[in-house]
Amino acid sequence: MIEFRDVHKYYGDYHALRGINATIRAGEFFSLLGPSGCGKTTLLRTIAGFEDISSGAVMIDGKSMSGVPANVRPTNMVFQSYAIFPHLTVAQNVGFGLRRDPMSAAEKAKAVDEALEMVGLKGYGARAAHALSGGQRQRVALARALILKPKVLLLDEPLSALDKKMREQMQVELIKLQRQVGITFILVTHDQEEALVMSDRIAVMFEGQIAQLADPETLYRRPASKKVADFIGTMNFLPAKVLSDAGATVEVEAQGFGRMSLAPDQVMTGHSADGATIGLRPETLTILFDGQTASEREVMGSVEEVVYYGDMTYYDVKLDGAEVPMRLSMRNVPGRPVLDRGNKARLGWSPSAAVLFR
Ligand code: ATP
Repeated sequence: MIEFRDVHKYYGDYHALRGINATIRAGEFFSLLGPSGCGKTTLLRTIAGFEDISSGAVMIDGKSMSGVPANVRPTNMVFQSYAIFPHLTVAQNVGFGLRRDPMSAAEKAKAVDEALEMVGLKGYGARAAHALSGGQRQRVALARALILKPKVLLLDEPLSALDKKMREQMQVELIKLQRQVGITFILVTHDQEEALVMSDRIAVMFEGQIAQLADPETLYRRPASKKVADFIGTMNFLPAKVLSDAGATVEVEAQGFGRMSLAPDQVMTGHSADGATIGLRPETLTILFDGQTASEREVMGSVEEVVYYGDMTYYDVKLDGAEVPMRLSMRNVPGRPVLDRGNKARLGWSPSAAVLFR
């Protein structure tokens, strides 16, 4: 439904978008995720028509949006700073975009009620907008965008002003809302957890380029680069050597972890400049107690640091026998710490959880 064809954007000399190619499907919840300054807001604004592009094309429904003004595009945007009018009522705010619409006052009132119900603010129409909480204002901003029945809703960090609890609640509500209205949602966020929770697919951006575009599970389990792996969660990186690369499997030796065979989908290419690296997510390592044996492999080390988060505990473990001292992060869920600093740790791990960057 939306297609970026080699989109470039310059602000003066600054190359903000550097060849974006991607397709966003109708009806999907799509997120643009990346650190501050990577160009995600700029990319979102090119869809809305708030930003011209320097070269390439932005297509909506197969039509180039070149020269098409924002107000006639089938998109609507909800901003980070929910710009609602404090001197108007909730209903007046929500109905604002319909003020020039030829429909009757009764029809407009009905549309406002429906939009308010959608965002969980049924019965709030007569309230003064300035008296609402942050979460309620964000809902009003959403209702105001949805009432215009856009094909695409663009959300620029809509939840970033809310506290953690409210943000998590709104994330779930936004997913439900998107399923209910069935239109395409495109979300800009720098919060990896938010993107993983909400999206059907995510484009991870660094420095004006898409580093990887995939569904949340693929991004997490098969990150295309160390940078993506590190941005989306935590990963242990182990220096490695490729021993052989014969068709169906790649034989690798990772420092401290020994030899392993990997399937082609575990191998991410294009990183030879840094040498080969094995990546293992902390939660794929398990703590083994006396008498327990690993289902696959095990390594020994000693616990250097214990970091307690409540629902999980992270341990930094220094591996025995590695040529270079190496710290390894692992975690256990539920969070009750089971090892102390200074304890010996025996860890189970599985080659199938590893990725190779080479
Ligand atoms: P953030 O999360 O901080 O908003 P972002 O990933 O959304 O970051 P953009 O707002 O798209 O990043 O900005 C990308 C780059 O382009 C930044 O380096 C920014 O300084 C620059 N930039 C954005 N808008 C302009 C502008 N109007 N003029 C000049 N440079 C700009």
